[in-house]
Amino acid sequence: MTSSETAETQTSPVKYKRVMLKISGEALMGDQGFGLHPPTVERIAREVKAVHDLGVEICMVIGGGNIFRGLSGSAQGMERTTADYMGMLATVMNALAMQSALEGLGVFTRVISAIRMDEVCEPYIRRRAVRHLEKKRVCIFAAGTGNPYFTTDTAGALRANEMACEAIFKGTKVDGVYDKDPHKFDDAKRYDTVSYDEALAKRLGVMDAAAIALARDNNLPIIVFSLDEPGGFRGILAGEGTYTKVYG
Ligand code: UDP
Repeated sequence: MTSSETAETQTSPVKYKRVMLKISGEALMGDQGFGLHPPTVERIAREVKAVHDLGVEICMVIGGGNIFRGLSGSAQGMERTTADYMGMLATVMNALAMQSALEGLGVFTRVISAIRMDEVCEPYIRRRAVRHLEKKRVCIFAAGTGNPYFTTDTAGALRANEMACEAIFKGTKVDGVYDKDPHKFDDAKRYDTVSYDEALAKRLGVMDAAAIALARDNNLPIIVFSLDEPGGFRGILAGEGTYTKVYG
């Protein structure tokens, strides 16, 4: 963290008014190795509620990799675009699970899908989504971008730009971006900050390249943090904790 950032967070306890939280579908599967683990979904919902309680407007994009990934389907002989649509449908299931957990905690939400399924959730209408955020409803954007050949990282960057979020928070299993896998190498070094171009050139695995480029081209910072740290999401919004900020 730079000295100017430290000063900023000391004067303002909550630095962001509106943020995007991007998590992978795998974050919802717990130790099961597949699918949805409701206690894990609820644990993450509590992390989100803690930030919501600060008055921050929250957008969420959840992946679908705990249920289905288009690339894996096509590697096994499925037609790629069909497999991708299946992946997008998987994200809707995850979004509904998160909606249920958040509403169980008393947080109002909307699931907003890039693919229409009006009986299940709302279609994506940008101005309507902005209104939900203003009313402090957590907006969970489902079905990715609605297009095959994309990922939910890109959907997260796209919706974050459209919703005028001030940052993308990428929740992972580690507290930032490392030069090598910290689970495998004791001498792995965490970056406090890293530029978009360095993240792309060194393939640091922050988000996929299309998502990083979209963030870079719109000066949208990406904060990589650990979702496994209880209270970690709220802590970072209050100016504490460790994370990597990708920007510049
Ligand atoms: N997907 C897609 N277009 C999108 C977003 C997602 O086709 O805009 C499909 C793609 O097949 C992907 C799957 O949905 O593999 C699940 O999303 P993702 O792999 O990003 O999930 P995560 O890895 O974050 O759990």
